[in-house]
Amino acid sequence: MTDTNNFIHNIIDKDLEEEKYGDKVHTRFPPEPNGYLHIGHAKSICLNFTTAQKYGGKCNLRYDDTNPVKEDMEYVDSIEADVKWLGFSWDQRLWASDYFDEMYQCAVELIKQGKAYVCELNADETRAYRGTLTETGKESPFRNRTPEENLKLFEGMKEGRYADGEKVLRAKIDMASPNMNMRDPVIYRIAHVPHHNTADKWCIYPMYDFAHPIEDAIEGITHSICTLEFEDHRPLYDWVLREVGRWPAPPQQIEFARLNITNTIMSKRYLKALVDEGKVDGWDDPRMSTIAGIRRRGYTAEAVRDFCERIGVAKANSTVDVGLLEHCVREDLKARVESRNVVENPIKIIITNYPEGESEELEIENNREVPELGSRKVPFSRELYVDGDDFMEEPVKKYFRLFPGNEVRFKGAYFITCSQVVKNQDGTIKELLCTYDPETKSGSGFEGRKVKGTIHWVDAKTAIKIRIRNYDYLMIEDEKGEQTLNPDSLIETEGYAEPLLGEAKAGERFQFFRKGYYIADEKFTTDEEKVFNKIVGLKSSWKK
Ligand code: ATP
Ligand code: MG
Repeated sequence: MTDTNNFIHNIIDKDLEEEKYGDKVHTRFPPEPNGYLHIGHAKSICLNFTTAQKYGGKCNLRYDDTNPVKEDMEYVDSIEADVKWLGFSWDQRLWASDYFDEMYQCAVELIKQGKAYVCELNADETRAYRGTLTETGKESPFRNRTPEENLKLFEGMKEGRYADGEKVLRAKIDMASPNMNMRDPVIYRIAHVPHHNTADKWCIYPMYDFAHPIEDAIEGITHSICTLEFEDHRPLYDWVLREVGRWPAPPQQIEFARLNITNTIMSKRYLKALVDEGKVDGWDDPRMSTIAGIRRRGYTAEAVRDFCERIGVAKANSTVDVGLLEHCVREDLKARVESRNVVENPIKIIITNYPEGESEELEIENNREVPELGSRKVPFSRELYVDGDDFMEEPVKKYFRLFPGNEVRFKGAYFITCSQVVKNQDGTIKELLCTYDPETKSGSGFEGRKVKGTIHWVDAKTAIKIRIRNYDYLMIEDEKGEQTLNPDSLIETEGYAEPLLGEAKAGERFQFFRKGYYIADEKFTTDEEKVFNKIVGLKSSWKK
């Protein structure tokens, strides 16, 4: 059975057919705990976990913590929260640093076989000896040391007898290889830096290209999925496993194109800089492309998984339109949230023929497309607010909302006609005098006449004030076509909302009728004050 959408699954199908790993499928997600995960990592998480699910296999969460300098345990908790939020559970949670002993043994094994040597060239010399893409490299003068000598020196490195950079252990492969990664790559370096897990037990640490295949092999990983930059490293991955020779069915590395999205930062380092420089409100700022950020923004895990599924698995790098991600969010929310009335830049409405001091409760449906979401009661009386965008004193062509002399439907209420604009001394609008037609009550079956515009409203006396945080992309293109930080990525406004919104709990999502999707912000929403993040607008910018 071939699944043409996913070339990785095609490979696995073939491996299963040939019983390369028996009936086993075992993947892993291997983050380096040096920052919060971003939407690119979500792609890798979904791919690794759903692949294991599809084949009834397993997926490990493995911290790739072999570099003691950059890691910080604060990130571990965030990584686990993010994977769980996406809806996955790992088979085992493991630390690459737990394999330091075994990795050391593997290095010793290579030395004994004459496949690795201790080199004393400094960094500049090493670079010069390596050659270029057009020039073959030159062999290090230390290349032909005997295994005995290398063993002694390597042990000395481990014992801390040398300073950082004084010596390295290199694989002895081929200085003439057209693949630069195969020109005697460094596999161990000295770093007198304590490690969060192993403290000061080690002052030598394995390089990624040596450590990663061993980590995979120790865990019995069958398919080690990584991004395209590692394609040129695959021969080294295979070399390490073959030459160490401990594993009869070594894992195989498979590369896919990393996810890039327009207007979206896809680098932990860059995201960290924004946090460190105070350009954003932490790693979970709703503008950030971190999983924590998009969660606080109000995106759902279902939408993110749907997005990862739709973009598929590619073998060539490309950039996905951020509009597709937003589309997935909108599609998911459309079917599950209730709507509420909220107006911004409010204009006061006085219904002059509505009895003073009276009010009524109107029943308004919560989600037209999902009747199961029921309805709610919304107060209506003589004084209301409408949105500043829904009135024009001098209407442009095809403007069907409120303007002097025009009749519109107030959603869920009555037909209302604007009869007069009352101004303040400075010429701004004080209020609109309007009349309503009691015959036209929503749900009464009135069919006397039709109106073209429907607008929403809130009752002035019972309305509550809310804060709305409207977001734009953090990254935009400047005149020169270069990516730059958007100075207007957060615009805070104020709104008037129907009273029910005063009960919103942090994390609850709504459609603000005719406006978009919003979530009560986790950090700023309290019993007294409701602060909403705009998740996404109603209209899609995304075209198939
Ligand atoms: P960054 O470049 O942002 O620092 P990274 O690749 O160094 O990311 P790791 O913690 O090493 O971060 O990544 C864990 C896993 O996530 C790796 O297997 C990596 O290939 C994958 N990954 C990272 N970024 C992306 C992306 N944009 N698309 C798909 N997979 C990604
Ligand atoms: Mg990395």
